[in-house]
Order: sequence, then structure tokens, then C-alpha cells
Amino acid sequence: MKILIMGPQGAGKGTQASRISKKLEVPHISTGDLFREALSNGTDLGAKAKEYMNRGELVPDSIVVGMLKERIEKEDCKKGWILDGYPRNKLQAEELDKITKVSHMIVLTLDDDFAVQRIGGRRTCSKCGAIFHTTNLKPKKEGICDRCGGNLIQREDDKEKAIRERLKIYRNDTEPIILHYKNKGIKMIEVDGKKSIQEAFDEIMPQLR
Ligand code: AMP
Repeated sequence: MKILIMGPQGAGKGTQASRISKKLEVPHISTGDLFREALSNGTDLGAKAKEYMNRGELVPDSIVVGMLKERIEKEDCKKGWILDGYPRNKLQAEELDKITKVSHMIVLTLDDDFAVQRIGGRRTCSKCGAIFHTTNLKPKKEGICDRCGGNLIQREDDKEKAIRERLKIYRNDTEPIILHYKNKGIKMIEVDGKKSIQEAFDEIMPQLR
């Protein structure tokens, strides 16, 4: 299965993608995580992406598309994948369509104010990227990652000003992609992003056939 997961920031894309990836045994590919990884490894790619990311803007397509293509050509992608955070605009969707055929699209819906409120509580592991939440998904020990023991931080782009900017981009550039794939007849799975993690997961899984 080649699955896209879409939704505004805070709708739970990363969390659902990670669970679905484990269940279906296909890699969870998050372009945001790939950039953050590049940044922490001190690569050129990371340095190029940093300024855009901190402002909540999109990294230029020329950089993202190449990175994504390289990733999905790897051996572990033979059986499929779940893509989280890509495509973010029409051009990125068209570039993906040139090399492969998407089988499913999951859309998590959420209004902006709720998204801002939810993201404000998000904490990310500075070491492995695992995501927690101050009220919805608390780590066992405050400020510490359950998975690797790293410190939990609030990402620069999870602060309100950057979130509002990212939501604006989502509505203008990313949301139209839903129609692009609807028109192609790809199987659409729409779920209310306000639901709990478990409820949303239970609604999605039976539809991934
Ligand atoms: P995310 O974790 O998916 O919200 O991504 C964090 C940041 O990485 C975004 O705000 C962008 O700056 C950058 N980014 C991630 N994916 C893409 C993409 N497909 N196109 C452009 N920029 C991206």
C-alpha cells in the first residue's frame, strides 16, 4: 500500500502514521523528520532547510522532491509506505505521481483554533523525534522521552506564530491536493481529527484494504 496522510498540523498525522506503519509493516516517511534528522546530523541539506523550517515556511520544492525520491527508492519501500508531510502542494503531488501510484489517502480534519491549542502542548524528543503531549500523550516522566531517554522540547515551529503561518499554507497550498487525488479516484479515508488517537486509528484501519 502506498498511503498519503494529510491534515492540518495538530490533527495527529504523525501519531497515526507511526501506528499504521507498525501495523502494516511499511516505513513511515515524514519529510519533516527527514529534515530534522539532516539538521541534527549537521548536513548541508539540514542547513539549507533550517531557516524555512524555523519560520514555519515550506522548504523549496527543488530540495524536498529530490530528498523524497531518494528515500522512496530505498529497499524498505518495496512493499509500500505511508507518507506524512508530503506532498504539500500541487507540484510535489505531480512529481510523486510521475514515479509511482498512490493507493490510499487519509485525511484528518481539524479547525485552526483547535489545531493551535493542540500543537501548543506538543513536545518532541530532541534525540529520536518521538512525539508526546502535555495533556493528551504524557511521557512517563515529565520532559523525558519514553523511547530513548532524550530531552523533550517544544519545536520552534510549534510556537503560535509559526503554527498560524503553517496553517495558512496548509489551507492555501496543501488542501487543494485532496481534490487532485479525489479526481484520480484514489481511495479516500476521511476522519475527524478531534477524535482520540485510538478512535481515529480504529476508524482508519478497517478501511486500509
Ligand atoms: P512537519 O513536521 O511535517 O510539520 O514539517 C516541518 C517543516 O519541515 C515544515 O514546516 C517545512 O518547513 C518542512 N517540510 C516538511 N515537509 C515538507 C514538504 N513536503 N515541502 C516543503 N517543506 C516541508
